[in-house]
Amino acid sequence: MTGPYDLSRHDLDALLQGEPAFRSRQVWDALHKRAAWPAEMTELPGPLRDRLSSEIAPALTIVDRRLADDGETVKWAFDAGAGALVETVLMAYPDRVTVCVSTQAGCAMACPFCATGQGGFKRHLRAGEIVEQVAWAKRERPVTHVVFMGMGEPLANYDQSIAAVRRIHDDMGISARRLTLSTVGIVPGIRRLADEGIPVTLAVSLHAANDELRNELIPINRRYPLAVLAEACARYVATTGRRLSLEWAVIGGVNDRSQDADELAAFARPLGAHVNLIPLNETDGYHAPGRPRAAEFRARLSALGVNATVRVTRGAAIAAACGQLAGTPRPA
Ligand code: SAH
Repeated sequence: MTGPYDLSRHDLDALLQGEPAFRSRQVWDALHKRAAWPAEMTELPGPLRDRLSSEIAPALTIVDRRLADDGETVKWAFDAGAGALVETVLMAYPDRVTVCVSTQAGCAMACPFCATGQGGFKRHLRAGEIVEQVAWAKRERPVTHVVFMGMGEPLANYDQSIAAVRRIHDDMGISARRLTLSTVGIVPGIRRLADEGIPVTLAVSLHAANDELRNELIPINRRYPLAVLAEACARYVATTGRRLSLEWAVIGGVNDRSQDADELAAFARPLGAHVNLIPLNETDGYHAPGRPRAAEFRARLSALGVNATVRVTRGAAIAAACGQLAGTPRPA
Protein backbone atom coordinates (compact mmCIF):
# COMPACT_ATOMS: atom_id res chain seq x y z
CA MET A 1 0.00 0.00 0.00
CA THR A 2 1.35 3.38 -1.00
CA GLY A 3 0.53 6.45 1.00
CA PRO A 4 1.07 10.05 -0.09
CA TYR A 5 4.40 10.29 1.75
CA ASP A 6 5.76 7.05 0.33
CA LEU A 7 6.33 8.86 -2.96
CA SER A 8 9.57 10.64 -3.72
CA ARG A 9 9.41 13.86 -5.69
CA HIS A 10 10.55 11.85 -8.67
CA ASP A 11 7.73 9.31 -8.17
CA LEU A 12 5.25 12.17 -8.06
CA ASP A 13 6.65 13.63 -11.31
CA ALA A 14 6.12 10.25 -12.92
CA LEU A 15 2.60 9.98 -11.56
CA LEU A 16 1.79 13.41 -13.00
CA GLN A 17 3.30 12.83 -16.40
CA GLY A 18 1.32 14.67 -19.08
CA GLU A 19 0.08 17.27 -16.60
CA PRO A 20 1.34 20.88 -16.67
CA ALA A 21 4.84 21.20 -15.23
CA PHE A 22 3.78 23.15 -12.13
CA ARG A 23 1.45 20.39 -10.88
CA SER A 24 4.10 18.30 -9.23
CA ARG A 25 5.34 21.16 -7.06
CA GLN A 26 1.74 22.16 -6.32
CA VAL A 27 0.75 18.70 -5.09
CA TRP A 28 4.04 18.23 -3.21
CA ASP A 29 3.53 21.50 -1.31
CA ALA A 30 -0.10 20.72 -0.60
CA LEU A 31 0.98 17.40 0.93
CA HIS A 32 3.86 18.72 2.99
CA LYS A 33 2.98 22.32 3.83
CA ARG A 34 -0.78 21.97 4.25
CA ALA A 35 -1.00 18.26 4.98
CA ALA A 36 -3.92 18.11 2.58
CA TRP A 37 -5.02 14.75 1.21
CA PRO A 38 -5.45 14.56 -2.57
CA ALA A 39 -9.25 14.44 -2.21
CA GLU A 40 -9.10 17.88 -0.57
CA MET A 41 -6.93 19.55 -3.19
CA THR A 42 -9.74 21.60 -4.70
CA GLU A 43 -7.16 23.53 -6.72
CA LEU A 44 -6.75 20.44 -8.93
CA PRO A 45 -9.05 19.57 -11.82
CA GLY A 46 -11.68 17.04 -10.70
CA PRO A 47 -10.50 14.03 -12.72
CA LEU A 48 -6.89 14.45 -11.54
CA ARG A 49 -8.04 14.85 -7.97
CA ASP A 50 -10.05 11.64 -8.24
CA ARG A 51 -7.15 9.73 -9.74
CA LEU A 52 -4.72 10.90 -7.04
CA SER A 53 -7.16 10.17 -4.26
CA SER A 54 -7.40 6.59 -5.34
CA GLU A 55 -3.70 6.16 -6.08
CA ILE A 56 -2.22 7.91 -3.06
CA ALA A 57 -4.77 7.73 -0.27
CA PRO A 58 -3.46 7.95 3.34
CA ALA A 59 -1.64 4.79 4.45
CA LEU A 60 -2.87 5.03 8.04
CA THR A 61 -6.47 4.53 9.09
CA ILE A 62 -7.70 6.09 12.31
CA VAL A 63 -9.10 3.47 14.66
CA ASP A 64 -9.23 5.67 17.73
CA ARG A 65 -8.74 9.33 18.54
CA ARG A 66 -9.05 10.69 22.04
CA LEU A 67 -8.38 13.90 23.92
CA ALA A 68 -6.98 14.72 27.35
CA ASP A 69 -5.67 17.75 29.25
CA ASP A 70 -8.58 19.95 28.11
CA GLY A 71 -8.03 19.02 24.50
CA GLU A 72 -4.37 20.04 24.55
CA THR A 73 -3.29 16.40 24.21
CA VAL A 74 -4.54 14.21 21.38
CA LYS A 75 -3.74 10.55 20.90
CA TRP A 76 -4.42 8.66 17.71
CA ALA A 77 -4.33 4.93 17.23
CA PHE A 78 -3.83 4.06 13.57
CA ASP A 79 -4.14 0.81 11.72
CA ALA A 80 -1.11 0.63 9.44
CA GLY A 81 -2.52 -2.41 7.68
CA ALA A 82 -2.88 -6.06 8.58
CA GLY A 83 -3.65 -5.19 12.19
CA ALA A 84 -0.37 -3.33 12.84
CA LEU A 85 -1.39 -0.61 15.27
CA VAL A 86 0.64 2.52 15.87
CA GLU A 87 -0.01 5.44 18.16
CA THR A 88 0.79 9.13 17.75
CA VAL A 89 0.47 11.86 20.38
CA LEU A 90 0.09 15.61 19.89
CA MET A 91 0.85 17.93 22.79
CA ALA A 92 -0.06 21.61 22.52
CA TYR A 93 1.64 24.15 24.80
CA PRO A 94 1.34 27.94 24.80
CA ASP A 95 4.57 28.33 22.84
CA ARG A 96 4.83 25.13 20.81
CA VAL A 97 3.00 22.17 19.38
CA THR A 98 4.88 18.90 19.63
CA VAL A 99 3.98 15.65 17.95
CA CYS A 100 5.41 12.37 19.20
CA VAL A 101 5.70 9.80 16.40
CA SER A 102 6.15 6.04 16.35
CA THR A 103 8.83 4.44 14.18
CA GLN A 104 7.78 0.82 14.59
CA ALA A 105 4.57 -1.07 15.30
CA GLY A 106 5.60 -2.50 18.65
CA CYS A 107 9.22 -2.64 19.76
CA ALA A 108 11.84 -5.36 20.05
CA MET A 109 13.85 -3.78 22.87
CA ALA A 110 11.79 -5.48 25.61
CA CYS A 111 12.44 -2.92 28.38
CA PRO A 112 10.44 -4.39 31.25
CA PHE A 113 8.95 -1.09 32.54
CA CYS A 114 7.64 0.06 29.14
CA ALA A 115 4.24 -1.05 27.87
CA THR A 116 5.40 -0.91 24.23
CA GLY A 117 8.39 -3.13 25.00
CA GLN A 118 6.17 -5.62 26.76
CA GLY A 119 3.90 -5.95 23.74
CA GLY A 120 6.63 -7.23 21.43
CA PHE A 121 7.60 -6.26 17.91
CA LYS A 122 5.24 -6.26 14.95
CA ARG A 123 7.04 -4.50 12.10
CA HIS A 124 9.13 -1.51 11.04
CA LEU A 125 7.24 1.51 9.76
CA ARG A 126 8.10 2.99 6.40
CA ALA A 127 9.35 6.57 6.28
CA GLY A 128 6.07 7.50 4.59
CA GLU A 129 4.10 6.14 7.53
CA ILE A 130 6.22 8.09 10.00
CA VAL A 131 5.82 11.32 8.03
CA GLU A 132 2.10 10.73 7.67
CA GLN A 133 1.74 10.77 11.46
CA VAL A 134 3.11 14.33 11.43
CA ALA A 135 0.67 15.18 8.66
CA TRP A 136 -2.30 13.93 10.70
CA ALA A 137 -1.16 16.14 13.57
CA LYS A 138 -0.61 19.13 11.28
CA ARG A 139 -4.20 18.80 10.13
CA GLU A 140 -5.20 19.55 13.70
CA ARG A 141 -2.63 22.10 14.90
CA PRO A 142 0.37 23.92 13.46
CA VAL A 143 3.11 21.50 14.50
CA THR A 144 6.39 23.18 15.50
CA HIS A 145 8.34 20.25 17.00
CA VAL A 146 8.58 16.54 16.27
CA VAL A 147 9.92 14.00 18.75
CA PHE A 148 10.73 10.43 17.67
CA MET A 149 9.67 9.08 21.05
CA GLY A 150 6.59 7.03 20.31
CA MET A 151 6.40 3.28 19.81
CA GLY A 152 9.54 1.59 18.60
CA GLU A 153 13.27 2.16 18.56
CA PRO A 154 14.12 4.66 15.79
CA LEU A 155 17.75 3.58 15.45
CA ALA A 156 16.68 -0.06 15.01
CA ASN A 157 14.76 1.20 11.94
CA TYR A 158 17.56 3.53 10.94
CA ASP A 159 17.05 4.13 7.23
CA GLN A 160 13.32 4.74 7.42
CA SER A 161 13.60 6.93 10.52
CA ILE A 162 16.30 9.09 8.93
CA ALA A 163 14.41 9.33 5.66
CA ALA A 164 11.46 10.60 7.71
CA VAL A 165 13.68 13.10 9.55
CA ARG A 166 14.89 14.43 6.19
CA ARG A 167 11.40 14.74 4.76
CA ILE A 168 10.08 16.51 7.85
CA HIS A 169 13.11 18.80 7.80
CA ASP A 170 13.42 19.51 4.08
CA ASP A 171 9.81 19.46 2.95
CA MET A 172 7.71 20.25 6.01
CA GLY A 173 10.27 22.87 7.00
CA ILE A 174 10.87 21.92 10.64
CA SER A 175 14.43 22.81 11.65
CA ALA A 176 16.86 20.25 13.05
CA ARG A 177 16.83 21.81 16.49
CA ARG A 178 13.09 21.22 16.70
CA LEU A 179 13.49 17.53 15.93
CA THR A 180 14.41 15.11 18.69
CA LEU A 181 15.29 11.48 18.23
CA SER A 182 15.20 9.26 21.29
CA THR A 183 17.11 5.99 21.52
CA VAL A 184 17.80 3.24 24.03
CA GLY A 185 21.44 3.62 22.96
CA ILE A 186 22.04 1.71 19.71
CA VAL A 187 25.68 2.71 19.40
CA PRO A 188 26.27 2.12 15.66
CA GLY A 189 23.13 4.16 14.96
CA ILE A 190 24.33 7.06 17.10
CA ARG A 191 27.64 7.04 15.22
CA ARG A 192 25.91 7.10 11.85
CA LEU A 193 23.51 9.79 12.96
CA ALA A 194 26.40 12.06 13.93
CA ASP A 195 27.55 12.00 10.30
CA GLU A 196 24.18 12.67 8.64
CA GLY A 197 24.74 16.41 8.55
CA ILE A 198 21.37 17.04 10.15
CA PRO A 199 21.99 17.83 13.79
CA VAL A 200 18.79 16.71 15.47
CA THR A 201 18.58 16.74 19.24
CA LEU A 202 19.65 13.34 20.50
CA ALA A 203 17.93 11.97 23.59
CA VAL A 204 19.29 8.82 25.18
CA SER A 205 17.06 6.76 27.46
CA LEU A 206 19.58 6.09 30.19
CA HIS A 207 17.54 5.14 33.29
CA ALA A 208 20.56 3.56 34.98
CA ALA A 209 24.21 4.57 35.00
CA ASN A 210 25.71 1.29 36.16
CA ASP A 211 25.79 -1.69 33.83
CA GLU A 212 24.28 -4.15 36.24
CA LEU A 213 21.05 -2.21 36.72
CA ARG A 214 20.97 -1.01 33.13
CA ASN A 215 21.25 -4.57 31.80
CA GLU A 216 18.05 -5.27 33.66
CA LEU A 217 16.14 -2.13 32.66
CA ILE A 218 17.42 -1.84 29.08
CA PRO A 219 18.37 -5.31 27.84
CA ILE A 220 20.28 -3.94 24.80
CA ASN A 221 22.80 -2.53 27.30
CA ARG A 222 24.37 -5.99 27.28
CA ARG A 223 25.38 -5.37 23.70
CA TYR A 224 26.22 -1.66 24.05
CA PRO A 225 27.33 -1.09 27.63
CA LEU A 226 27.69 2.32 29.24
CA ALA A 227 31.34 2.96 28.41
CA VAL A 228 30.74 2.41 24.69
CA LEU A 229 27.53 4.42 24.84
CA ALA A 230 29.27 7.35 26.52
CA GLU A 231 31.91 7.38 23.81
CA ALA A 232 29.29 7.46 21.03
CA CYS A 233 27.42 10.24 22.83
CA ALA A 234 30.60 12.29 23.21
CA ARG A 235 31.24 11.94 19.50
CA TYR A 236 27.68 13.02 18.68
CA VAL A 237 28.08 16.13 20.81
CA ALA A 238 31.51 16.94 19.35
CA THR A 239 30.36 16.45 15.75
CA THR A 240 27.02 18.22 15.90
CA GLY A 241 27.63 20.81 18.59
CA ARG A 242 24.22 19.94 20.04
CA ARG A 243 23.53 19.43 23.71
CA LEU A 244 22.69 15.85 24.61
CA SER A 245 19.54 14.94 26.54
CA LEU A 246 19.46 12.02 28.92
CA GLU A 247 16.09 10.57 29.88
CA TRP A 248 15.65 9.04 33.28
CA ALA A 249 12.32 7.45 34.14
CA VAL A 250 12.38 7.67 37.91
CA ILE A 251 11.33 4.30 39.28
CA GLY A 252 10.55 4.04 42.99
CA GLY A 253 13.13 1.98 44.87
CA VAL A 254 14.93 1.05 41.63
CA ASN A 255 16.84 4.07 40.33
CA ASP A 256 15.82 6.90 42.67
CA ARG A 257 18.43 6.49 45.43
CA SER A 258 21.17 9.00 46.09
CA GLN A 259 23.71 6.54 44.73
CA ASP A 260 21.76 6.50 41.45
CA ALA A 261 21.88 10.29 41.30
CA ASP A 262 25.63 10.19 41.89
CA GLU A 263 26.17 7.67 39.08
CA LEU A 264 23.92 9.64 36.75
CA ALA A 265 25.80 12.85 37.51
CA ALA A 266 29.12 11.15 36.82
CA PHE A 267 27.81 10.00 33.43
CA ALA A 268 26.10 13.27 32.47
CA ARG A 269 28.65 15.85 33.56
CA PRO A 270 31.52 15.04 31.18
CA LEU A 271 29.00 15.02 28.32
CA GLY A 272 27.49 18.36 29.36
CA ALA A 273 24.14 16.61 29.09
CA HIS A 274 20.77 17.87 30.22
CA VAL A 275 18.72 15.37 32.22
CA ASN A 276 14.98 14.88 31.73
CA LEU A 277 13.45 13.19 34.73
CA ILE A 278 10.24 11.37 33.84
CA PRO A 279 8.25 10.32 36.89
CA LEU A 280 7.42 6.72 36.04
CA ASN A 281 4.05 6.05 34.51
CA GLU A 282 3.26 2.93 36.41
CA THR A 283 3.32 -0.43 34.66
CA ASP A 284 3.27 -3.97 36.02
CA GLY A 285 5.76 -4.36 38.82
CA TYR A 286 7.23 -0.85 38.55
CA HIS A 287 6.14 2.03 40.71
CA ALA A 288 6.46 5.78 40.66
CA PRO A 289 8.72 7.37 43.25
CA GLY A 290 7.15 9.39 46.03
CA ARG A 291 7.06 13.12 45.29
CA PRO A 292 9.68 14.14 47.87
CA ARG A 293 11.99 11.44 46.52
CA ALA A 294 11.83 12.84 42.97
CA ALA A 295 12.46 16.36 44.25
CA GLU A 296 15.41 15.18 46.36
CA PHE A 297 16.80 13.32 43.39
CA ARG A 298 16.69 16.44 41.29
CA ALA A 299 18.20 18.58 44.03
CA ARG A 300 21.07 16.16 44.38
CA LEU A 301 21.76 16.25 40.64
CA SER A 302 21.78 19.98 40.69
CA ALA A 303 24.16 20.06 43.68
CA LEU A 304 26.43 17.83 41.58
CA GLY A 305 26.35 20.37 38.76
CA VAL A 306 23.87 18.62 36.48
CA ASN A 307 20.93 20.43 34.96
CA ALA A 308 17.72 18.47 35.29
CA THR A 309 14.08 19.16 34.60
CA VAL A 310 11.09 17.07 35.54
CA ARG A 311 8.95 16.29 32.52
CA VAL A 312 5.34 17.28 32.99
CA THR A 313 3.23 14.26 32.20
CA ARG A 314 0.71 14.62 29.42
CA GLY A 315 -2.02 12.23 28.41
CA ALA A 316 -1.84 9.77 31.31
CA ALA A 317 -5.65 9.62 31.41
CA ILE A 318 -5.74 8.28 27.85
CA ALA A 319 -2.63 6.08 28.16
CA ALA A 320 -0.74 8.51 25.94
CA ALA A 321 2.15 9.20 28.31
CA CYS A 322 5.76 7.95 28.03
CA GLY A 323 5.90 4.19 28.10
CA GLN A 324 2.14 3.76 27.82
CA LEU A 325 1.77 3.38 24.06
CA ALA A 326 0.70 -0.19 23.77
CA GLY A 327 -1.11 -0.14 20.45
CA THR A 328 -4.17 -1.58 22.08
CA PRO A 329 -6.89 1.06 22.16
CA ARG A 330 -9.22 0.36 25.03
CA PRO A 331 -12.91 0.67 24.39
CA ALA A 332 -14.15 4.22 25.08
N1 SAH B 1 12.86 3.44 21.98
C1 SAH B 1 13.22 4.83 22.12
C2 SAH B 1 12.06 5.75 21.77
C3 SAH B 1 10.91 5.69 22.77
S1 SAH B 1 11.02 7.09 23.77
C4 SAH B 1 13.71 5.09 23.54
O1 SAH B 1 13.51 4.24 24.39
O2 SAH B 1 14.33 6.12 23.76
C5 SAH B 1 9.98 6.70 25.10
C6 SAH B 1 10.58 7.16 26.41
O3 SAH B 1 9.68 6.82 27.48
C7 SAH B 1 11.87 6.47 26.70
O4 SAH B 1 12.75 7.35 27.35
C8 SAH B 1 11.40 5.37 27.63
O5 SAH B 1 12.44 4.85 28.39
C9 SAH B 1 10.39 6.11 28.46
N2 SAH B 1 9.49 5.22 29.19
C10 SAH B 1 9.20 3.94 28.90
N3 SAH B 1 8.34 3.43 29.80
C11 SAH B 1 8.09 4.42 30.68
C12 SAH B 1 7.28 4.51 31.84
N4 SAH B 1 6.55 3.47 32.24
N5 SAH B 1 7.24 5.69 32.49
C13 SAH B 1 7.96 6.74 32.05
N6 SAH B 1 8.74 6.72 30.97
C14 SAH B 1 8.82 5.57 30.30
